[in-house]
Amino acid sequence: MRVIIKHLGLVRTLTLIILLVTFSASAQDATDRLLVTADKLRSSDPTEFNTALKELSVHTSSMNTDQLYYFKYLRAYKLSFQGEFTKAVELYKEITNSQAESTLRFRANLSIVNSYAISKNWADGLTHLAINLDILPQITEPEFQELGLLIAAMFYNQLGQYELGLKYANRLGSQLSQGRNYCLAKQLALESQFKLGQLNEDSPQIAQGLQACQQSNEVVMESAIYSYLAELYLDNNQPLQAIATLEKQLVAIEQTKYAPILAQYYALLADSYFQTQSYSLASDFASKATSQTQNIANSKPEVTAYNILFQIAKSRGEHQQALAYHQEYAAADKAYLDEVKTKHLAFQLAQHQATEQKNQIKLLDDQNRLLRLEQKLSRSETENNRLFISLLTVSILLLAGMVYKSRTTQKRLKLLAEYDALTKVHNRGHFTQQALNAIDYCSKNQQAASCILFDLDKFKSINDTYGHATGDWVLKQVAQVCQAHSRKSDLFARLGGEEFCIFLPSCDVNTAAQLAEEYRKLIAAIDSNGSGFEFAISASFGVTDFSLSGTNLDKMIADSDHAMYVSKKTGRNRVTIFSDGIAEFKRNKQANSAMGSQTTETRV
Ligand code: GH3
Ligand code: MG
Ligand code: MG
Repeated sequence: MRVIIKHLGLVRTLTLIILLVTFSASAQDATDRLLVTADKLRSSDPTEFNTALKELSVHTSSMNTDQLYYFKYLRAYKLSFQGEFTKAVELYKEITNSQAESTLRFRANLSIVNSYAISKNWADGLTHLAINLDILPQITEPEFQELGLLIAAMFYNQLGQYELGLKYANRLGSQLSQGRNYCLAKQLALESQFKLGQLNEDSPQIAQGLQACQQSNEVVMESAIYSYLAELYLDNNQPLQAIATLEKQLVAIEQTKYAPILAQYYALLADSYFQTQSYSLASDFASKATSQTQNIANSKPEVTAYNILFQIAKSRGEHQQALAYHQEYAAADKAYLDEVKTKHLAFQLAQHQATEQKNQIKLLDDQNRLLRLEQKLSRSETENNRLFISLLTVSILLLAGMVYKSRTTQKRLKLLAEYDALTKVHNRGHFTQQALNAIDYCSKNQQAASCILFDLDKFKSINDTYGHATGDWVLKQVAQVCQAHSRKSDLFARLGGEEFCIFLPSCDVNTAAQLAEEYRKLIAAIDSNGSGFEFAISASFGVTDFSLSGTNLDKMIADSDHAMYVSKKTGRNRVTIFSDGIAEFKRNKQANSAMGSQTTETRV
């Protein structure tokens, strides 16, 4: 049971919460509706607008943040409508600087431009207008895009830049066919054309503009258009038509309490009545005009009004009064002209600043481009450097390759020049050079030097019997065996064919003969089986030294050769030391040879 009661209590609480939420939601919905209604009534029905605002002010405690900002926006609008622009701008700025919804912030910003226009703060107004025009292409909602164009047209007209005003008014008018903004576009276009002298009383645009504003119940704008028409009549010396035009609209415009247009109406009526010489009425309207311009600095109606008051006082002979009015007139006229100048200057300055800004942006763009080019250049420079380095590396490698190749070629050439290709021992040329150096050294140092020369025995028959390759094999074996046995200072060489020579510095003939004997034995011990054949290998030696042959290399070789020849003749595979006998034998042999006789074998 308790549980059921408990549950019933919970259900009741929940129901209460739901009811409260529903109630507060519906209360909020009502506030939203009232805010939107007030927004719609803003300029079309100021009285209803004020009533709506009063009702809303009662509900501020239950409003959410967005609703409070919206209410603030409408309050600011009311202030600017009443001519209290400074207070209005303060409220608008509170909205633009807040976390309010972006659309409302955009609208507040536009209202700031509008307020600056009305309060004639041209410099700040132009700054905000520039922001507005910058953002304008990004605005997609037609309502606010229209508002942006509207503010631009309005501001430029206020500034006296009517060509620009007309441009934006026409842009706005061309994309609409009815409604409040259409009326505003028409009114602003008419104002521009009027100021630019493009209108006369019969211009069809006037009727179109009036129709547009009447359809949308925009009394203020309709009245503004009538004021242009009245002024056209006045300019055309038709004051009665002007009065008729203005009087017809007077009650309606007085109900709006919209000071700028009211002042304009009163001043125009004063002027019109003055022209019809109805001075009393003229004076009344002029006074009314001056009372309306108290919150509007430097206005044309003020100038007109004081001028008329001065003229009337003067015509009445009220000189004191006339002087006072004239002073007011002069001051207002000066202030008005100063303001025209100020507007012009502000616009020139803004244009200059915009050009400056564009130039600055262009400069920055150019600098960026230059920077990018420099980066590109440094990149390509790096690439060039890389390419250069690669080329250099390739060149260096090629060069190194060439150097290496030339060195190996040189080495190869040196080998070819100094060594025998088959046996890899020194060739005759190199041997001669080295032996001459050794002879020079030994003879200078009174040292002995010997020369051993040997020739392989019956080598032709080895070639003939076992082939040339076997002959080559034998030559290589002999060279290898002898090279291995020679001392470091000995010069071993193949003089040609199967003839070898060993030059032994610091070595007399006896030692040389002993060494020759060792070489002979080594050669004779070579095992021919390595060639694939079995045969005997031997060589015949001839030995001499400085003491026997002197220090002439050619003579030493020739004497050794003769001694070797003796070895051949005496049975081969032996060593013969050169001697005088051999020299004698040699001479005889040469003589016989010259006579064509046969050589006799000589035993030593
Ligand atoms: P002798 O004992 O009188 O010196 O007789 P020989 O046959 O050794 O002398 P000969 O001058 O008649 O023959 C030398 C041969 O050596 C002739 C030549 O074909 C051969 N010969 C010379 N140079 C080379 C070589 O580089 N390789 C080979 N296989 N044979 C060579
Ligand atoms: Mg030979
Ligand atoms: Mg031989």
